[in-house]
Amino acid sequence: MNEASTTILKSKIVEVCHKLYSRGLVAGTDGNVSARLQNGNILITPSSLNKGDVQAQSLILLAPDGKLIEGSGKPSTEVKMHLFIYTSRPDVNAVVHAHPPYATAFAAARLPIDAHVLPEIALMFGTIPLAPYATPSTEEVPQSIAPFVASSKALLLSNHGAVTFASDVHEAYLLMEKLEQAAHILFLAHLLGGAKALTENELDRLRALRKELYRKELFSIQGDLSQ
Ligand SMILES: [Zn+2]
Repeated sequence: MNEASTTILKSKIVEVCHKLYSRGLVAGTDGNVSARLQNGNILITPSSLNKGDVQAQSLILLAPDGKLIEGSGKPSTEVKMHLFIYTSRPDVNAVVHAHPPYATAFAAARLPIDAHVLPEIALMFGTIPLAPYATPSTEEVPQSIAPFVASSKALLLSNHGAVTFASDVHEAYLLMEKLEQAAHILFLAHLLGGAKALTENELDRLRALRKELYRKELFSIQGDLSQ
């Protein structure tokens, strides 16, 4: 990994941190963002820093096993969750963890977000599992998400927040933004009497559409549309 591409990746992480803060997806010093470099090392946000204040020089560089390579702060307290996701998913190069209000409300109520209500959410996510409660920053967090990481790209963490992961840090951010929007819409639909999930037949047609769009390279974000 040369210096120029590390610099570009750092600036992408900074941009995502600032978006997370400006869109209200995190508050205080909540949330953490990381990205994997081509050589396997990981850039991650430090603990105890508002995401609106993150700068390129704030980021911490870690070896794949979590050993500190460079940086003056402490890595995010959720570093174990990030490392676990990278170890489990060689295709993933970015992880975003946030506490978006509506998605976290679902997580606090321990209600799953039904990904089969809004077509673009079904296409983008497939499913959005709800991981059991785990004490933040401990080994319990990777253990709680372990059953779901292989087959999803977004998870709710019970009584805590949400995590999204993708091949690129902007894509992981977009998943978080869409997850929060879906949670907000489902919350509003609940007030109107409840959302109606798409039927199996409607989902089948979406699956066919996704295949077609993907073949034509009009749709870049993969979703497995699993049940
Ligand atoms: Zn958190």
